[in-house]
Amino acid sequence: MYDAVIIGGGASGLAAAVKALKNGKKILVLEAEKRVGKKILLAGNGRCNLSNKHLSVDCYNTPSVAEFLKYSGEVYDFFEEIGLKTRTLDGRIYPYSESGKSVLNLLREAVGESNILTEQTVKEISVEEEGFSVNGIKTNNVILCTGSSATTGRDCADLYKKFGHTAQKPSPVLVPLTTSTEFIKGLSGIRAKVRLSVKTGEKTLFSECGEILFKDNGVSGILAMDASRFLEKDCFLQMDFLPDIAETEAARYVKRGKTEGLVQRMIVLAVEKQAAYYDLPVEKVLKKFIIKNISPCSASQAQVMRGGLRLEEFDENLQSKRKKGLYACGEVLNVDGRCGGYNLHWAFLSGIIAGKSV
Ligand SMILES: Cc1cc2nc3c(=O)[nH]c(=O)nc-3n(C[C@H](O)[C@H](O)[C@H](O)COP(=O)(O)OP(=O)(O)OC[C@H]3O[C@@H](n4cnc5c(N)ncnc54)[C@H](O)[C@@H]3O)c2cc1C
Repeated sequence: MYDAVIIGGGASGLAAAVKALKNGKKILVLEAEKRVGKKILLAGNGRCNLSNKHLSVDCYNTPSVAEFLKYSGEVYDFFEEIGLKTRTLDGRIYPYSESGKSVLNLLREAVGESNILTEQTVKEISVEEEGFSVNGIKTNNVILCTGSSATTGRDCADLYKKFGHTAQKPSPVLVPLTTSTEFIKGLSGIRAKVRLSVKTGEKTLFSECGEILFKDNGVSGILAMDASRFLEKDCFLQMDFLPDIAETEAARYVKRGKTEGLVQRMIVLAVEKQAAYYDLPVEKVLKKFIIKNISPCSASQAQVMRGGLRLEEFDENLQSKRKKGLYACGEVLNVDGRCGGYNLHWAFLSGIIAGKSV
């Protein structure tokens, strides 16, 4: 009989395993794939942006995550515990080696290969007279750490539905945006430093400065991915190509025929086209370039999914309020954060909390 079976060997599952083992518990990690930790290797383009110095509840979708963020210090103690030194670049926390492989190797070492079973897709959790049975393995507790369908297409929140849990329908966030291509034709491959706003009517849903990358059918880059968390029906993008220059100053360059002194030629052409279409001065469109018909790309291109099991249905140890002995952590819960290490931070933090509690 195990103390805990952990379903899913990603960041949250491996963190839960390390903490449970530290408390002397007998555990087993069941992983569907041939190897654990695939997304740890994908994260941050292989550099694995683990966490962020500027953690706050505002960086997440679910206000009740605040109760857990109080314990964020434990994530840094945990890195120290597994032997991982970190470095901070612009507030983003990375492994000192800047390699996700180092993070995964240290986690695997801390868990021990004998405590991991791979190619074990869990399709059902059965209730036994005492505890549960998962793929025929008996356990007192189950920790569900199956992540989300972002990139993988696998969504396992349903495993807890028979115990009375409800899940918010998954939708992709932290994903490139497809848009109308009417005014951005020819911009594909161009990077620009802009203020990007997501708006519906006069209401601003998101507005931040950063870099975007134009694609054939829309926009990408960290700023566009962060904006993807705030889309609403009928919203549009507003781009200020001159975030630190006033319209009056821009007008001086436009009047002299020197718009290219402000932005790249292809952007000048796109802005002039929109200015002519709406009969507006070029300097106004440089500050308020509009792109319509916004939608997120598919889950296969998303870093994270919004949705999953409702955090409110779990207690302060991430144990189910519906069925004792069931826990959930990481992205299988309806917690998503912005780009910058916030999602892995949540995965590690929640794994630590559940792992300590079983
Ligand atoms: C391309 C990409 C880049 C990213 N970059 C960053 C970044 O730099 N910083 C950041 O903070 N976040 C980043 N993220 C998000 C981050 O990786 C995830 O939020 C995080 O990995 C979630 O951890 P988790 O443990 O909940 O789930 P996962 O890491 O997805 O782990 C879930 C595990 O469960 C297994 N599993 C699923 N179903 C079953 C089943 N039925 N039975 C057994 N096993 C199962 C899966 O195979 C997987 O190994 C990125 C995501 C992607 C896709």
